[in-house]
Amino acid sequence: MRAGETLVVKDVVLVGAGHAHVQVLRRFGMRPLPGVRLTLISRELHTPYSGMLPGLIAGHYGFDEAHIDTAPLARFAGARLYGDEVIGLDLAQRLVLCRQRPPVLYDILSLDIGSRPNTGGVPGATEHAIPVKPIDGFLARFEALRARVLAGQSRRVLVVGGGAGGVELLLALEHRLRRDLAERGGDPRALGFALVAGEGGLLPGFPRAFRRRFVAELTERGIALHAGARVRAVEAGAAILDGERGRIAADEILWTTEAAPAGWLAETGLALDARGFVRVDATLRAFGRDEVFAAGDTIAFDPRPLPRSGVYAVRAGPVLADNIRAALTGRPLRPYRPQADALSIVSTGGRHAVAARNGLTVAGGWVWRWKDWIDRRFMRRFNDLPAMAAPTPPPARVEPDAVHSPAAAAMRCGGCGAKVGAATLARVLDGIEPAPHPDVVIGLDAPDDAAVVETGGPLLAVHTVDYFRAMIDDPWRFGMIAATHALGDVHAMGAAPHTALAIATAPFGTEAKVEADLAAMLAGANAVLRAAGCALIGGHTGEGAELALGFAITGRVARDALMRKSGLVPGDALVLTKPIGTGVVLAGHMRGIARARWLEAALAAMCVSSGPAAAILAAHGARGVTDVTGFGLIGHLVEMTRASGVDAELLLDRIATIPGARELAGRGIASSLLPQNLRLRAAIRDPTRAETLPLYPLLFDPQTAGGLLGGVPADRAEACVAALRAAGYPAAAVIGAVRPRSDDVAPITLRASADAG
Ligand SMILES: Cc1cc2nc3c(=O)[nH]c(=O)nc-3n(C[C@H](O)[C@H](O)[C@H](O)COP(=O)(O)OP(=O)(O)OC[C@H]3O[C@@H](n4cnc5c(N)ncnc54)[C@H](O)[C@@H]3O)c2cc1C
Repeated sequence: MRAGETLVVKDVVLVGAGHAHVQVLRRFGMRPLPGVRLTLISRELHTPYSGMLPGLIAGHYGFDEAHIDTAPLARFAGARLYGDEVIGLDLAQRLVLCRQRPPVLYDILSLDIGSRPNTGGVPGATEHAIPVKPIDGFLARFEALRARVLAGQSRRVLVVGGGAGGVELLLALEHRLRRDLAERGGDPRALGFALVAGEGGLLPGFPRAFRRRFVAELTERGIALHAGARVRAVEAGAAILDGERGRIAADEILWTTEAAPAGWLAETGLALDARGFVRVDATLRAFGRDEVFAAGDTIAFDPRPLPRSGVYAVRAGPVLADNIRAALTGRPLRPYRPQADALSIVSTGGRHAVAARNGLTVAGGWVWRWKDWIDRRFMRRFNDLPAMAAPTPPPARVEPDAVHSPAAAAMRCGGCGAKVGAATLARVLDGIEPAPHPDVVIGLDAPDDAAVVETGGPLLAVHTVDYFRAMIDDPWRFGMIAATHALGDVHAMGAAPHTALAIATAPFGTEAKVEADLAAMLAGANAVLRAAGCALIGGHTGEGAELALGFAITGRVARDALMRKSGLVPGDALVLTKPIGTGVVLAGHMRGIARARWLEAALAAMCVSSGPAAAILAAHGARGVTDVTGFGLIGHLVEMTRASGVDAELLLDRIATIPGARELAGRGIASSLLPQNLRLRAAIRDPTRAETLPLYPLLFDPQTAGGLLGGVPADRAEACVAALRAAGYPAAAVIGAVRPRSDDVAPITLRASADAG
């Protein structure tokens, strides 16, 4: 189910985006089960497909070709996506314990978390060898190794482990590193490669002809093979072999031998085998636990031992999906029947591979193309997902009926994309006449980021309220973002947050589900409020159609420290502290086309507090400051120019964007608030030319918890930006300048760059 659509009755929590779970997600996406909500918790959100990993290392595939992107997949499955590491389970309370977030409640739990390297207690291996498993994260370890080789720091590469994974990895490494070095003008023959294969020799368990081919391949390529040897110890720069076999000098030692299970499983109370893998029966159900399943490398399959390879994890996927569904609906489970002899295709670095099945061995370029075809077909299942229902076309202007049609309403954005447009709001407020009060310093007659009221003492009180519905399915993260967003107005005024009242809406559900979602949301929000020194002192909570959260926040500020939208001065440099593009990335996520890393970057940016940024702006002389939120960069800049009686110039090449925002905008993806924000195009000079400039639509993109925009005296701007970057705002930049008010009705000029017109 899509979160919030119907009553949540059962929670299925999938831990790990392994080869079996990606199939569970796809199958639930194809055939959702009403009342069942899926949650995927994974340490890495782009999950490598093992079959293409050697090809990725060899340089035949790009990152996205060889990784399954969990964001579109989770969206397709209607699953909540939590990027986190699981560190334990509470089986009695049915809770998954995570490194960062509060515990996650489950009715059915499934583990597909792969394995980790088993250095078998070999002294020095943990310190001096590079683990190949877990495969998530291996790419980063490989890139670091590659950089050392290309920089001339490493010359000799040793792989420990003579199984299919070790051999294929070594051949891919040799192919790639020699090629890359040659391309950079180095001598590929300067590199040395070696392989240590244990007692079973090279490729134990494979047909003799298959093994012979690989011995010949290694010899031909000058790769030293130490077969029947054991590494006794590893030290910096060498592996020490057992007995009289001596020492192999190596700058890089990769460890691919036997897998080990995740250490935390031992503390869970699950039934484990002697080595610590999760014991499952033929149906992939954990022993003695009707509500826990597991698949892939992490299991000890009770009917018979299985090789720890991606092939078996892949084949388990459909059975796991069926059995989770059967467990939810009270139907009988079916057994997983792994094939007795799987097809093995091992590539040799170039576009060439060797295959073995039922004792037969074949090799050639065509075998590699065959493997490539199989792998790409598998990946297409996850990368070419059926389109999401009812995508909203990005309208150039708002048709009154369009926004009220059910389809469009269904895709209306959450977060600040759910704001009422500036023009609508202005018209409504025009008809309101608040009672006059002598204590009101800033009220509705000259609105700012927050209202300001006398306290009778030296400090002024700053009041602001924000409330919006969730734009992501993760209540904890949403709570953090909602609080960060609400605090933004207080920071923009130069005030210190003081106290907060919360207003929360939880979707209808069973008591336990409502409680868990509310608890997670408020835990996230409170962590942010606490960090800001803002006491949560009360609030109101109700049930509703969708998860929503807001805060009324009070701050305190000294009279002369107040920063206002009206404080821009001609000559000021305009400084922006965060990248823009959260609206379009969230809109892309709603449509299931935003990549997980883009979404993650947007969420991370939204969780960055503007507190330190406000202090830095103030310390560098800023007086005109606002926070960029629902009306977009242009909308908030126009508010400032109007209030300050100035014009402004923006340098588009200086404005940082969230990764993926430009690509999505280029594809016509937009927040549902964009059409209303675009009405402010009238504030831009030469609008026809401006529309052709890169970044144009993103300037109107509604931001949730966006950055601060401030006018800083030009001679202090670079120091201000340097201080911001050092304080954790890497995208901070001078993005333009404040100009004296001209006769032109449009106050804003856009320039592609400082040099361009
Ligand atoms: C270099 C290399 C090449 C290989 N080549 C092949 C091959 O060609 N063919 C083949 O069949 N096999 C190959 N393998 C083996 C294969 O990669 C594994 O057997 C396979 O990945 C296991 O799949 P899995 O579903 O069990 O787990 P994985 O694919 O390892 O996925 C585990 C998932 O769980 C997540 N995770 C782990 N721990 C946690 C946690 N505590 N909390 C949250 N999330 C967690 C990870 O981020 C990941 O998403 C290769 C392995 C390597 C290292």
